[in-house]
Amino acid sequence: MIETKAYAAEAATSPLGPFRFERRDPGPHDVQIEILYCGVCHSDIHQVRNEWGGSIYPMVPGHEIVGRVTKTGAHVTKFKAGDLAGVGCFVDSCRTCPNCQAGLEQYCDNGMVGTYNGREKITNLPTYGGYSNHIVVDEQYTLKVSDKLPLEGVAPLLCAGITTYSPLRHVGVGKGHRVGVLGLGGLGHMAVKFAASFGAEVTMLSSSPSKEADAKKLGAHHFALTSDPTTMKNLQNHFDFILNTVSAQHDYSTYLNLLRTNGTMIVVGVPPTPSQVPAFNLIAKRRSIIGSLIGGIKETQEMLDYCAEHSIVSDVEVIKIQDINEAYERMIKGDVRYRFVIDIASLR
Ligand code: NAP
Ligand code: ZN
Ligand code: ZN
Repeated sequence: MIETKAYAAEAATSPLGPFRFERRDPGPHDVQIEILYCGVCHSDIHQVRNEWGGSIYPMVPGHEIVGRVTKTGAHVTKFKAGDLAGVGCFVDSCRTCPNCQAGLEQYCDNGMVGTYNGREKITNLPTYGGYSNHIVVDEQYTLKVSDKLPLEGVAPLLCAGITTYSPLRHVGVGKGHRVGVLGLGGLGHMAVKFAASFGAEVTMLSSSPSKEADAKKLGAHHFALTSDPTTMKNLQNHFDFILNTVSAQHDYSTYLNLLRTNGTMIVVGVPPTPSQVPAFNLIAKRRSIIGSLIGGIKETQEMLDYCAEHSIVSDVEVIKIQDINEAYERMIKGDVRYRFVIDIASLR
């Protein structure tokens, strides 16, 4: 077994603190990774605080993991010791259902195994995530990471990156499209980068006036303050797509009205309480709402390769693990520019 150092939450109401546990030794298809950086996703906060229900404690969060392979099982072919590797939001799935077969493991009909707050298929033991110094994962669920990009900026690609890349690709965002990105945090800033890189005209829809200059630097062509009634009125019937990344309760109808005929709101943010969707806001312009969950392994690799080719990384604030509780408080206030990433060296 592998002695592992981590930070964990013992309950929904307790702050994260030091925690030790053992990981399995790598099996024939596993890679053992020494974790170097782990991004901090708002989903970590939702799950640590049991905002979605069903949380398992103690919980070691973290699903934006990059590190270096230290050991490989006898049948591993994709990796060797010394290679860079990444792990995203899940570490296993059934591998046989139509979704798994189609490379859409995130939609596995038998349930994917979350990198943390999940249960391993055979042992039913809880999974522990990337706020830790080692992880052992089947090579099929491990990603290749380029050495061309700064690793701390790559970590958030494993969730914030793929969660925004996948739906933008799915709906075919490109030249001639007007895309609104709602909420400038971890997901939002990656959505702006990808939508602009795919050739769309991008508007940042934000509740924070202080983020305007940054939005433009990230590649947004326009900035719209969502609290300003005149701005919102001028944007009625304007967008082909709105990517909604907001983490807290908000009114969908306000933003649906910004979609033109046949426009689509893509929901990726998961507020703990449901939002109402008034039928009139949909039927008025044959609008639709779709949801999207992270992305499959094949597409995640495609996204990482795209980022390496186009020099796209997340804008990060590197923190020590000891500062994680303060980072959560800042994220809840929308005060993150634009992803906290834990330097796992601070655990040692
Ligand atoms: P984040 O970094 O905290 O960013 C969320 C942003 O939403 C904030 O920066 C803020 O942007 C805006 N916001 C927050 N509270 C708001 C409020 N009350 N009203 C209006 N806007 C508000 O979070 P994240 O890591 O990007 O995650 C965003 C959401 O996506 C979370 O719910 C997370 O669980 C979910 N998620 C989903 C998937 C998926 O597969 N679908 C994957 C990862 C994360 P402004 O200051 O610009 O308004
Ligand atoms: Zn995430
Ligand atoms: Zn499956």
